[in-house]
Amino acid sequence: MKIIQLQNVAIMFFYFVLVVPGNSQLFAQDQILIKKTVNSNQQTPTDSMKRTDSEWKRILSKEEYHILRNKGTERAFTGEFDGHFEEGLYICAGCGNKLFDSETKYKSGCGWPAFYNALPKSVNEKEDNNYGMERIEITCSKCDGHLGHVFNDGPDPTGLRYCINSVSMDFKPNEKK
Ligand code: FE
Repeated sequence: MKIIQLQNVAIMFFYFVLVVPGNSQLFAQDQILIKKTVNSNQQTPTDSMKRTDSEWKRILSKEEYHILRNKGTERAFTGEFDGHFEEGLYICAGCGNKLFDSETKYKSGCGWPAFYNALPKSVNEKEDNNYGMERIEITCSKCDGHLGHVFNDGPDPTGLRYCINSVSMDFKPNEKK
């Protein structure tokens, strides 16, 4: 009898102390992900791509530094890639990380280059509550440079709109076969 009671206590301990709080946390995280979108391939910026502020200032143009390192935003409808629809890959202007395939680029009309998906493990997401808005910031997974934001009003198949500054990217056209 005693053994059975002990077993019950152990099971209850396991359930209430370990399982319930764990599930609640998972549930809460799910809720946030559902509400906030998106891509769960979070990466830690690699050490090799971590640079000091003065290094970034030296490497990047003034405009690139402003947007990539200080989270600036280019003026709508002014970016080099807003109306750019060639085949190829869009890479990070800070570190060359491959970010977006031209196949996922579409005309959103928002004034910035828009993609419905990012390449796997290419970008990270962070909550951005600046300027009184609840947004999800997108950063390069390798150098942590600011790219833009992701919204839930994109087309199929993801329903996402990665709204990205042209200045944060360079373009690598597909090589002709
Ligand atoms: Fe980068």
